[in-house]
Amino acid sequence: MGNYCQVCGKGTLNGNLVSHSNRKTHTTWAPNVQSVRVVVNGAVKRMNVCTACLRSGNVQRALPKTHEAVEAEA
Ligand SMILES: [Zn+2]
Repeated sequence: MGNYCQVCGKGTLNGNLVSHSNRKTHTTWAPNVQSVRVVVNGAVKRMNVCTACLRSGNVQRALPKTHEAVEAEA
């Protein structure tokens, strides 16, 4: 499986596009997988996660500090 989601395991699907005249064209459907930095057990690591998992909050994103957060620490 080439690109797949490391959270839900969703990968590519294979099948046919079928026209009205019933001609079949083989095709592949791939999930929208993004490489993102996520927090796993307190550690930040890069994982391939599908956008459905990102949207549903299945992973905690490791986001860079905002300008305001840096100023609050100082
Ligand atoms: Zn997923």
